[in-house]
Amino acid sequence: MKIVLLGAPGAGKGTQAKVLAEKLSVPHISTGDIFRANIKGNTPLGIKAKEYIDKGQLVPDELTVEIVKDRLSNPDCANGFILDGFPRTIPQAEYLDKVLSDMKIELDATLLIDVKDDEIIKRMSGRRTCPNCGASYHIIYNPTKVEGICDVCNTAVIQRADDAPETVLNRLETYHKQTQPLISYYEKAGKLKVAEGADEVEETTARVFKVLGI
Ligand code: AMP
Repeated sequence: MKIVLLGAPGAGKGTQAKVLAEKLSVPHISTGDIFRANIKGNTPLGIKAKEYIDKGQLVPDELTVEIVKDRLSNPDCANGFILDGFPRTIPQAEYLDKVLSDMKIELDATLLIDVKDDEIIKRMSGRRTCPNCGASYHIIYNPTKVEGICDVCNTAVIQRADDAPETVLNRLETYHKQTQPLISYYEKAGKLKVAEGADEVEETTARVFKVLGI
């Protein structure tokens, strides 16, 4: 299946994307992860992207779309993919439509993981990430087994710079202004499915599977 995940930052797209990618045996493509890998590697793309990411702004479309086009042309996407965090603007969605139609493939669904702002703020302030392997945790909802230490690779977990409280508010504002219009874009295209995402991870996953019919 070819699926786009939509939702506010912190709605749980990354978590559900991983579960879906495993269940469907397709790659999980996260533009945020690609940017973070480039920042870690100090690449020219990473240096440019960091400027925007640290402020809670979107990386400009022209830096973002080519990465996705390259990634989608990789043979591992032939059976499907889970796009997490792309598109995030109407021009990105139009670009994606064009790339997919050139590749003669069609999206099966755009899945909105729906979580209200006050819940998002609560969640993101407790979010912790492993800077080494990328595993994500929450100090209350999904804590590490040993406080502050990644379960997977034993590295000290950190709060992402863009999960700091003032940046979270900027990211939410950016979401409402630039990304939310995609909900009606995909609704008009007859692609939109919605799963309520405010509860535990497993409950959201069950709803996600149900709306996707898998
Ligand atoms: P995420 O991990 O998906 O929350 O992404 C982290 C940050 O990377 C976002 O707050 C943006 O600054 C940037 N980013 C990720 N995906 C995109 C995109 N499709 N367009 C523009 N910026 C993006």
